[in-house]
Amino acid sequence: MTSAYLERMDTALAGLAEAGRRRRLRPVAADSAATILRDGRRLLNFSSNDYLGLARHPLLAERAADWAHRHGTGATASRLVCGTLEAHAALEARLAALKGTEAALLFNSGFQCNEAVLSALLHPDVAGKAPAVFVDRLAHASMHAGLRAAGVRQIRFRHNDLGHLATLLSQAAPDAPRFIVTESVFSMDGDRADIAGLAALAETHGAFLYVDEAHATGVLGPHGAGLCAAPEVRGRVDLVMGTFGKALGGFGAYVACSARVRDWLVNRAGGLIYSTALPPPVLGAIDAALDLLPEMDDARRRLHAHADAVRAACAEAGLPTLESTTQIVPAVLGPEDRALAAMATLEEAGLLAVAIRPPTVPPGTSRLRLALSAAHTEAQITTLCEQLRRLA
Ligand SMILES: *Cc1c(COP(=O)(O)O)cnc(C)c1O
Repeated sequence: MTSAYLERMDTALAGLAEAGRRRRLRPVAADSAATILRDGRRLLNFSSNDYLGLARHPLLAERAADWAHRHGTGATASRLVCGTLEAHAALEARLAALKGTEAALLFNSGFQCNEAVLSALLHPDVAGKAPAVFVDRLAHASMHAGLRAAGVRQIRFRHNDLGHLATLLSQAAPDAPRFIVTESVFSMDGDRADIAGLAALAETHGAFLYVDEAHATGVLGPHGAGLCAAPEVRGRVDLVMGTFGKALGGFGAYVACSARVRDWLVNRAGGLIYSTALPPPVLGAIDAALDLLPEMDDARRRLHAHADAVRAACAEAGLPTLESTTQIVPAVLGPEDRALAAMATLEEAGLLAVAIRPPTVPPGTSRLRLALSAAHTEAQITTLCEQLRRLA
């Protein structure tokens, strides 16, 4: 490698540092479901997506260990070679039943899933050369990555603005296949999409509806099955994607869809075809989480009560929380330096609440992204609320 190339890397990294945008990995040690250890200090954790505290649940750990002993630590190959175990098929059947769809298909991570699935769905053999693809402006980076990989033009609609989406849909070329791509709970704003409204629009305009439930899975909808599993929309979303790494305390992702769409993905989704299947210990942890999920309504109620209390404290402190109605509460500070200062203040008080800044969120909306968990105690929520009020 030429030294000129590597020197340009140094220059570019220095540029990021100068702009205050250089990212670094900071090791932490897991401690309890609600705390972590960093640099020898115990911090109350308000930045984890372990919304139900399942990542440290003994049943998940036991079943992961049991399945590792019984079935091995690795799946040994891609699903299409000899990596499809009975456990993969059984879990897919379970997910399809949970979501009310014909079929489901597992993927190795949410990022990989969105990228692989969107580029397969928009393959020119089925979507033609110029599909009309409508994406919520705040959709996750992994969906944009999939659309870029597919090489299609993205038409971005204003966040959660179904009127804007309807206008754009009506302007699409009459013979172009249409796709609507969005999330049910937005990862940085904690607000919800109107799934029934989206389903109605998709039906009117003959569009394929794609919804990412990474932050709703386990937390919202009937017994935590997600917003797309609610009775009025069940079966009306063409493809529901979700992940196991957040509320389910594990790792990996799935799509729930028709048998025909699943068949297409098995044949065209590179991230499935060319990647080793999810390993048995991970499948065991997911299986245990799905056993626990239906009985966790009390935990979900506690989680939502925590979020209500934190939103109330933000309102008292004069910090907007946008349209948040979920366990994700953005405490918006505006300028990047204000968000960083707030993070430092909370950290001094022993609280971890990571500041989220552009380009992850739009300029001028830097925030503390507060992610709550049923594992937080009332006392821990009270501590957070006191610190938020002190920011005022
Ligand atoms: C976290 C996230 C993903 C990625 O899932 P991973 O399993 O963490 O790769 C995809 N979509 C959304 C909306 C997310 O928040």
